[in-house]
Amino acid sequence: MVIHEYAGIVTELPDRECPHCGKIMGAWLAPPETGWNVILICNNNNCAHYLGSEDDIIHKREDSHLGCRYAEDPDNGFKPVNVLAVCPH
Ligand SMILES: [Zn+2]
Repeated sequence: MVIHEYAGIVTELPDRECPHCGKIMGAWLAPPETGWNVILICNNNNCAHYLGSEDDIIHKREDSHLGCRYAEDPDNGFKPVNVLAVCPH
């Protein structure tokens, strides 16, 4: 069970493994503009999905080092979503 608490609102989410690296994903409150609530996100910097995503981003700046983390939206039947994140490498 992954428990996320923010502003007094507790969200309980099941443990779910990232299909790309097998790590248990963590809860993350997405920014309001995404339209998501609390989602499950893979925080593994060595995740194959994350490392492989850097070249796929169109129009990204050369020096931005952005990658896509794998995430699932519990409010939408755990539909896979991509979250843009800064790549550490
Ligand atoms: Zn992963």
